[in-house]
Amino acid sequence: MVTIKKSYSLLLFCIPLLAAAQPATQHLSFVVTMNNPEEHRFQVTMHLDQLPGDSVDLCLPVWTPGYYQLMDFVRNLSDFSVKDGRFRWIKPDSATWRLYARKGTPLTISYTIKAEKRFVANPYLGADHAYILPGGVFLYPRGRLTQPVKVRVVPAPGWDIATGLERHGDSYYARDFDQLYDAPILAGKLETLPVFTVRGVPHIFTGIDLGDFDKTAFVHDLQQVVEAGVAMMGDIPYDHYVFLAIGDGNGGIEHANSCSLSFSGKHFSTEAGRRRMLSFIAHEYFHLYNVKCIRPVESGPFDYQQENRTNLLWVSEGFTVYYEYLLNKRAGLITPDELFRSLEKNIAAYENTTGHSYQSLTEASYATWSYGPFGGSLERSISYYDKGPAVAMLLDLAIRHETANRHSLDDVMVLLYRKFYQQKKRGFSDAEFRQACETIAGASLDDVFSYATTTRDLDYNKYLAYAGLTLERQEKVFHIHPLPAADSLQNAIRDSWMR
Ligand SMILES: [Zn+2]
Repeated sequence: MVTIKKSYSLLLFCIPLLAAAQPATQHLSFVVTMNNPEEHRFQVTMHLDQLPGDSVDLCLPVWTPGYYQLMDFVRNLSDFSVKDGRFRWIKPDSATWRLYARKGTPLTISYTIKAEKRFVANPYLGADHAYILPGGVFLYPRGRLTQPVKVRVVPAPGWDIATGLERHGDSYYARDFDQLYDAPILAGKLETLPVFTVRGVPHIFTGIDLGDFDKTAFVHDLQQVVEAGVAMMGDIPYDHYVFLAIGDGNGGIEHANSCSLSFSGKHFSTEAGRRRMLSFIAHEYFHLYNVKCIRPVESGPFDYQQENRTNLLWVSEGFTVYYEYLLNKRAGLITPDELFRSLEKNIAAYENTTGHSYQSLTEASYATWSYGPFGGSLERSISYYDKGPAVAMLLDLAIRHETANRHSLDDVMVLLYRKFYQQKKRGFSDAEFRQACETIAGASLDDVFSYATTTRDLDYNKYLAYAGLTLERQEKVFHIHPLPAADSLQNAIRDSWMR
């Protein structure tokens, strides 16, 4: 472990800035000010050097990456004005401003964003901090999402700024709108914990209202989690990573090289609370691999004007739940029994819902935009956060068994990362995902995939037996425990699974 003094941590914010390539000439920039934070309103100015044609459509996204719901951000936008009388504009729809002028004319507009709801998927401004969720704040020119963007944030006096974006001079730089919309900006009186490095790459945990808890132990544990993820994937696809703690609340969202976390040190007052927080943070961190890099083809590049539906959220979310447990186990933060207790809770939540007879994992994945992660009415739907990790477990055990413990689900994740993220630079289809699993297993995985695409009952014990384990049900409670006797392959599979 490398311990770095706190005073050095702020310097590390600058390292990627020095190493980064200089941006191309900027044509599009924003300035965000927050003159009276307690009024919950950002003032935004947008400047475009030259109008790309005789007109331009400026649009606000209807959702934000990582939160699969339509958010109607545009209802918070007001006071839209154009600083030049040569322009006229109309509203072709509620989320679009169409401006007309001669091609090449410089354009400056301003508007206000009301930001009074504190939530991880919503922009917020208040007396003590600002959370700039870019999808809810920055308009984009339709058809020009690949445009580089410069953002200058003028915080309230005494506030610091943290974001995954690179800084150049007094501004932050995004190579395109996809990067901008996946890089929230937090401002306030931030507390930054000692920076840790993994393979030389700095990881920064910073935020508001962290509270009083053992921060040295926390940073150590967090580093173990990140190291477990990096060791599994064998590569770090970012040059710095920022954990943004946005205050107490519910939920977190993964982003390009950062994550937004509802966080409070008060949860560390009990051992169970500490484990829950580390599991939650491991989840958001592992999404950096499983969602940001390893992703269904529908999950980026995005259309910001409509839902981006996929059948595979059970992989993107369910497998991330499974790996949050495994990373915590591999980091030495939980025991095998504690890992089993977590899986048992997911299994119980799934088995005890009436929806398991009605909705498959692929259906729940597709439906989430309409109804949230439960994908429909509670009686007729399931959560891929519960059945997803259960099927991931069966898939992992099936691969370990089929390959006499030479391969595992880890190898599938690495294959997908290399083949699609690194080589093809795109997401995978449903069929390509299954093909990757069967390539690693060297066998058909028909049985396991039927658990994803149908409501068939899961045969947990067939797969748990591969690791010398069994699942017992007592009414609504499930318990994983060892079989009375296990052979050498069963023991080997269990040992390597629980390493
Ligand atoms: Zn997630």
